[in-house]
Amino acid sequence: MTTRNITGTNQKFTIGKIVCLARNYAEHARELGNETPPAPVLFMKPASSLIGDGDTVRIPAYSQECHYEVELAVLIGSQACNVTADKALEHVAGYGVSIDMTLRDVQNQLKAKGLPWEIAKGFDTACPLSDFVPAGAVVDPHDVTLKLAVNGEVRQNGTTADMIHRIPQVIAHVSAIFTLEPGDVILTGTPAGVGPVRAGETMTAEIATVGRLTIPVA
Ligand code: MG
Repeated sequence: MTTRNITGTNQKFTIGKIVCLARNYAEHARELGNETPPAPVLFMKPASSLIGDGDTVRIPAYSQECHYEVELAVLIGSQACNVTADKALEHVAGYGVSIDMTLRDVQNQLKAKGLPWEIAKGFDTACPLSDFVPAGAVVDPHDVTLKLAVNGEVRQNGTTADMIHRIPQVIAHVSAIFTLEPGDVILTGTPAGVGPVRAGETMTAEIATVGRLTIPVA
């Protein structure tokens, strides 16, 4: 399922590329022993990695350590190529909840060898993504709380106020490299508290005023 609705409207988008930021919250960068980057660190997930609310994350057999990362998702509503930060938010159609599922053991091995991360980040089911609320429904996207619980126990509890690179700057930066098309999504990074999830557990991710996901793991 690669389409998402904007709730309360009849707008529907086919999701295209999913551009993700790494290390966009200082405390999370520190918990993984990474430097805080001067420019956004980017990677992508394919649309084939998407699942929706209630769908199951399936941990691939080549990993023993699958981590959750709750993230605010930004839906692009109109083409953005080389836009300036002050015009960037005009291209945002809505905000959603995502979990950047990450095979941490695989990613660490790839990082150590200087190899790309796709198999740790872009496998089938690696991108739970909710429907979107209209951009105007979120008063300040840099002042919402993000929470992730595993079997009801809260593991991540952060605020988008702690983002290093803010959404307008991120869109400006990304759009100078990859033209953003309607239906493209930006995952804006995760706060501290990431950790493993195992088969049989259930994740709930919630972003205030934006939405909620319930995702079992197998
Ligand atoms: Mg992430």
